[in-house]
This record gives sequence, C-alpha cells and structure tokens, in this order.
Amino acid sequence: MIDTHAHLDFENFEDDLREVLGRFFEGNPQGFIVNIGVDFERNLESIKLTKKDKRIFTSIGFHPEILDEMKESFSLEKAILQLEELSQEKKVIAIGEIGLDYFHNSSNKKQQKELFIAQLDFAVKQKMPVVIHCRDAYEDVYEIISQKKYGDLRMVMHCFCGDLKQTEFFLTLDNLNFSFTGNITFPKKDDAEILEVIRIIPIEKIMAETDCPFLAPTPMRGKRNEPSFVKFIIEKIAYIKEMQREEGEKILDQNAIDFFKLRLI
Ligand SMILES: [Zn+2]
Repeated sequence: MIDTHAHLDFENFEDDLREVLGRFFEGNPQGFIVNIGVDFERNLESIKLTKKDKRIFTSIGFHPEILDEMKESFSLEKAILQLEELSQEKKVIAIGEIGLDYFHNSSNKKQQKELFIAQLDFAVKQKMPVVIHCRDAYEDVYEIISQKKYGDLRMVMHCFCGDLKQTEFFLTLDNLNFSFTGNITFPKKDDAEILEVIRIIPIEKIMAETDCPFLAPTPMRGKRNEPSFVKFIIEKIAYIKEMQREEGEKILDQNAIDFFKLRLI
C-alpha cells in the first residue's frame, strides 16, 4: 500500500506522527509514503521527515498559493536555488506540488505560470517526475504541459477532479498520470462524473493518494486524513475498475513504484 501524496510535515501531525506512521506500516511493511513539499519551510521539513523512516520519500516544490502568502517577498530565483540545493538529497524524488490555482486567486495568472514553467523546466533538467496541482485552471495547465519540451517528463495530476471532456484531453498525453484522493469516495450524486472519469482512464495511469491531512475518505470523512486511510481510496478505485481489492492494490502500487522509482536506499 503506497500513499503517493501526504503532508505529514503539517502541524496536524505534530503530536502523534509516530502512531500515524505505525498505523500505516503495520501489516504493510513494504509500503511507501511520498511526502509533498509546498514552500521554502515545508520543503526543508519534508526532507527532515524522510529521516524518520526509510520508506518515506519526498517531493519538493512551490505551490502556486505561495505567491499570495509571500507577496512581494517571493523570489523565483531563490525558489529555484532552493530546489537546486535540496534536489541533491537522496530522498528527494520529485518536483511538486507545482501548478496553477485560479480558484484561490485568478488575478496573478501570469506570475503563477512563470513559477510553474520554471519548475517544470527544472524537473526536465534534473530528469525528475512532477506532481501537479490544478484548480480551475485545466485549460492553461494543459496548454503548458502539452508542450513538446515536456514530452519525456513523467507527470501526475494530483487530486484529479477534471470532467469527462477535460479527461479526454489529458489522456492524449502519454506521459501524464492521474492520482485520486478521498473525494472519489464521497457518495454525492453530483460527483458521479468522477466515477466515470476513473472508468475511462486506464488503470496503468492511476495512482492512489490521501493528500492528508485534507480530504479524508468515507467512512472517515470530516476527520483528519492520514496515510492508512489510502486503503479506502484503493478499494474504491478497484471497485470502479471491477477488480478485487488486492489485484487493484498491486497495480496501483506498481504504478507508484515506476512513477517515482521507489526503492529502499
Ligand atoms: Zn497536496
């Protein structure tokens, strides 16, 4: 069982991280967790976290919301410099989460794109896969990542919530994968389209994630999410794909291992 997207460095886990990790690795000794950095401080904390267990790895990157948080004090140059420095660390295996978020702010599109593209270019240079955050910005993300220069880059759309039409567009990119979190387990009728979306994506392109502490899946909805809850997401994907849970889990795990090149070091 692999959680491909966690934020265990957030203060939500300050008091009981050891127990949280225990619940995930108990009965799942071959599991992995990919923790995800989002800004200067979190990237450093995420690397620290990887030292707690040999099965924890990290992605580092600058989430688009950092532009709002840091305003004028944000420096793209410093950001790339930090990526250059930290990507030397052995357990840094990807760049992300990076992307565009017009839900939180659509007045700084130009700056968001600049930050996104600079980090994609960096990932190409480093031959590292990327974890993409996209909210209300599907067209612009597609326009950027479909460029030829990113044709060999392994990419994953994290917490994918696109509709059927958008999915069909993104499926034309061979190097793009999709990961799903707790929202696919919410039994709301309006969300039915997401189930159809999962149906049309080949399972070889799918990964499971929690995005913890956010988006806890049913039956844990409303609680703090944690990596051990990824089993509910795996179960749901397997169900949609009309597979046994074990069979689905094996494929999803292998997808994550191949995508992030996960192995004990
Ligand atoms: Zn995230």
